[in-house]
Amino acid sequence: MEEKLKGVITKVMDNGNIGEINCGKNNKFTYTSEQLHAGYSPVLNDVVEFTLIEDQPFAITLYHRQKGAPAQSSSVDLKVKCPHCGQSIMPKAKVVEGKVKSTFCPKCNELLEKFEQPPKTNFTNWVLGILIGILLTLLIYFLATGKL
Ligand SMILES: [Zn+2]
Repeated sequence: MEEKLKGVITKVMDNGNIGEINCGKNNKFTYTSEQLHAGYSPVLNDVVEFTLIEDQPFAITLYHRQKGAPAQSSSVDLKVKCPHCGQSIMPKAKVVEGKVKSTFCPKCNELLEKFEQPPKTNFTNWVLGILIGILLTLLIYFLATGKL
């Protein structure tokens, strides 16, 4: 059973390829870009979620990103103030197909943040590829049989 840990990005170096995650209680982890989940580029003060394997964080993904948050020291407070009910809360993530779609407040269930998903280019390209393939086949067929 894998346990997901949470921490705060406290250092971002080398264009985001190296950084540090602080999980509080002197639990600090240094990571390299290979340990990041594909498509995630860390920003200072991001709250991240990861799997710890042999003292190394892996599959580091964004859990919550504060907008316009000032750079602060390494104090870890994973709680944020809900703009809807004003309570100090730990944002809950709504995960769809393994990706965090949005975060919401566990106290009042209001939406906190939405995460833009990149367009499904793979699927679109796949469909386009098939359509173009069919058109080309038809064209070649008509050209070859002289029925055009
Ligand atoms: Zn709330």
